[in-house]
Amino acid sequence: MSDKTASTKSGSSNSTSNIVLQCPQCKKPVHWNENYPNRPFCSKRCQQLDFGEWATEQNTIAGDSALADSEDWQDD
Ligand SMILES: [Zn+2]
Repeated sequence: MSDKTASTKSGSSNSTSNIVLQCPQCKKPVHWNENYPNRPFCSKRCQQLDFGEWATEQNTIAGDSALADSEDWQDD
């Protein structure tokens, strides 16, 4: 019943990518291999979500009415 120990010992030559990242969007583990073509995101959905997020952010900054508002008092 010591099969596990033996296979772990001799598995050093067969090096499949063991790199595991964390999806920036949903924090799920993402393995750096062919199963995750959208890495570092876990899925295309997360990739698009992340992109949409900063796109919205840019939009908010550009259309910030508070900036235009503060310029009002300087005009005096
Ligand atoms: Zn994700």
